[in-house]
Amino acid sequence: MKVIAVKTHAREEFLDITRDVRSAVRNSGIENGIALVFVPHTTAGVTINENADPDVKEDILMGLKKMVPDSLAWRHAEGNSPAHVKAGLVGSSIHIIVEGGDLQLGTWQGIYFCEFDGPRDRNVFVKVFGQ
Ligand code: ZN
Repeated sequence: MKVIAVKTHAREEFLDITRDVRSAVRNSGIENGIALVFVPHTTAGVTINENADPDVKEDILMGLKKMVPDSLAWRHAEGNSPAHVKAGLVGSSIHIIVEGGDLQLGTWQGIYFCEFDGPRDRNVFVKVFGQ
């Protein structure tokens, strides 16, 4: 398993980790199979979405903020329930087909680490399963 260290700089942000995941897959030496990308946190997640127009990730954050308002009567004493809900919505893992030693992402797809309660030092686990 490869661990990618991620440093976030804002309370909420999407960080493009495609290059790091691609590098982890290449270093695994596995040519064909599945890459599992897992985020071991409860207020952050991982997703695949458009990486061509940077406005898309800002729009996703805006949409999530609208769906999960800070102003609700949250009970969790830590005060970060919106971050827990958003992390649940995007999910904590993705898997990508690997062929010829590379990720089979679509033309406009990138892999994003999704921070909802930063800034923090985070980790992303990558495990590649050969076929
Ligand atoms: Zn909490």
